[in-house]
Amino acid sequence: MAVKRKVIRSNVMGFCMGVKAVMGKVDKQIIHEDSNNLYTYGPLIHNPQVIEKLRLQGVESIESPSDADGGTIIIRAHGIHPEDRKKFAENGYKIVEGTCPRVLRSQKTVTRYSEDGWFIVIVGDKGHGEVKAIVGCAKKYAVILTEFEAEALKIPEKTLVIAQTTLSQAEYDTICQILIRRDSSVKIIKSICPATSQRQNSLKELTAEVDAVIVIGGKNSANTKRLHLSALKEGLPSWHVESVEDLPEEIFKYETIGITAGASTPDWMIDRIEAALSGSAISQ
Ligand code: SF4
Repeated sequence: MAVKRKVIRSNVMGFCMGVKAVMGKVDKQIIHEDSNNLYTYGPLIHNPQVIEKLRLQGVESIESPSDADGGTIIIRAHGIHPEDRKKFAENGYKIVEGTCPRVLRSQKTVTRYSEDGWFIVIVGDKGHGEVKAIVGCAKKYAVILTEFEAEALKIPEKTLVIAQTTLSQAEYDTICQILIRRDSSVKIIKSICPATSQRQNSLKELTAEVDAVIVIGGKNSANTKRLHLSALKEGLPSWHVESVEDLPEEIFKYETIGITAGASTPDWMIDRIEAALSGSAISQ
């Protein structure tokens, strides 16, 4: 007998505002401008299928002006270190601004306070593109991520604390509480983007209605990995997949399947996976 399967989408899933905007800029360049000599500053988003699609459209990722012979460089939503931006401009590249407005706001805040002599504490992952770009706006700074680092940090006068926009609010709150306990004069900036928590909260609602969850997104996407962990923590069978080919055979035995996707997962991939799940009823 064929299993009658229902697929329910999470209310909030897929591209966040910043990623949607930069993807729109890339499409505009390809369709209305010129896709020749079109580059992105590093991989545009954490999604291998999108990166491959762009590559097939002639859009390559470069890290330095010397990686190509000039052209147009699209800055990704994470932003760019100001020195790197300068180098691209000096080498004659046309720059298309793709930095997410929220990230730009953090960069401007850090620049302003740094110019006024403040020490900047950036709470985030040192290796993340957004943190590397924010570091470039600070004169004196430290990047920390753990409670241990918050306890060990030397806190000078006039210290400003700001977070990587995609950090979890709970993690940031814990670090801020430690720093305030150690020195109540530290100034805390609210910089966390709600995109991640909105996807998490929506997933939580979804888990009450379904038997299993498919989380769609790049295996290199931190927010997608966190969604998968949350689904597992809710006690549901869950798989993290990048494409239809990754769907496990086991998923087809469930009658009600929830789907969600990270902030760098395109709609076309969500649609394909939804179609595969709802259209592949197997006989038992
Ligand atoms: S997660 Fe938030 S801050 Fe980061 S690109 Fe998306 S909208 Fe912008």
